[in-house]
Amino acid sequence: MPDRRLIEQLRPPKKQVDFKRPYNWLHENEPGVDGRILSVNTLFLTNKECSFKCVMCDLWKETLDRPTPAGAIPEQIRFGLEKLPEAQMVKLYNNGNFFDKKAIPPQDHAAIARLLQPFDTILLENHPKLCNSSVLEFQRLLHGQLEIAMGLESIHPDVLPRLNKQLTTDDFKKAADFLMKNGIRTRAFVLLNPPFCTDPRENIEWALKAVQFAFDCGVDTCSVIPTRPGNGMMDRLLTEGSFVPPTLKALEETFDRALQLDQGRVFADTWDLEKFSDCDDCFSARKERLERMNLQQKVLPRATCINSCRSMP
Ligand code: SF4
Ligand SMILES: [Zn+2]
Repeated sequence: MPDRRLIEQLRPPKKQVDFKRPYNWLHENEPGVDGRILSVNTLFLTNKECSFKCVMCDLWKETLDRPTPAGAIPEQIRFGLEKLPEAQMVKLYNNGNFFDKKAIPPQDHAAIARLLQPFDTILLENHPKLCNSSVLEFQRLLHGQLEIAMGLESIHPDVLPRLNKQLTTDDFKKAADFLMKNGIRTRAFVLLNPPFCTDPRENIEWALKAVQFAFDCGVDTCSVIPTRPGNGMMDRLLTEGSFVPPTLKALEETFDRALQLDQGRVFADTWDLEKFSDCDDCFSARKERLERMNLQQKVLPRATCINSCRSMP
């Protein structure tokens, strides 16, 4: 397993960020658990880098090296929400774990909860091992429904231990149980083509097994994330042949089949999707199809290609 020092050594430089500002914000739509479309405000908070150093992670690029100063996160939320229209749901992505005290200072929780008062649903991201009584204390401050997104990544027995995530499938299940028993909704992030599994067919099957595992743990929603190079370590693994990025075609098959499980919401992550495409002629139509499937939660007819390219099914 690549060690933490090597992972850090191979990194390209971080981006310049300002602790008083979220580094991005956006307004989008997403289907709720009952299928109705919800308006969503997503804030990408600037905070201290996550202390787990996962092999595939590139979220550290827009983080601080030092603990987040008290008061910075409420200020960022205030600023971000002022830029966005009203919405039913808010997602706070902090490139790590909301209940990491150095990332989101607990003394800011009450001010954060006050700012989140207008929202019916509040989604935060957190490592399964950090799902403890702090989550319940924060939940008590909220008016809306709390949802926690957790990275499951993979359930492949030769992959998950090597990701440096310091997570087992048991840890994930325990966290999901704990959250659900306390009335907190859960969602899982699942990687398509994590490092250390290089057979394209096996990768699709293992992603589907992870989705199934998450649903068996009672998770409401799974997001399938195509694994990307670009963080230094993943580029090294790509060169060494220990990582093969997924194709758009593989994502399409995984998403279709995960939706057909019909056990909860499934989303395909379409960010930076062009990196996985090998045909300019059909890419836009295929991306649009995935976006519509994200909203409609059903398998739609495949897009066609004027070139009848190899990447079509
Ligand atoms: S836990 Fe999440 S944010 Fe932290 S290093 Fe791993 S993937 Fe990145
Ligand atoms: Zn094509």
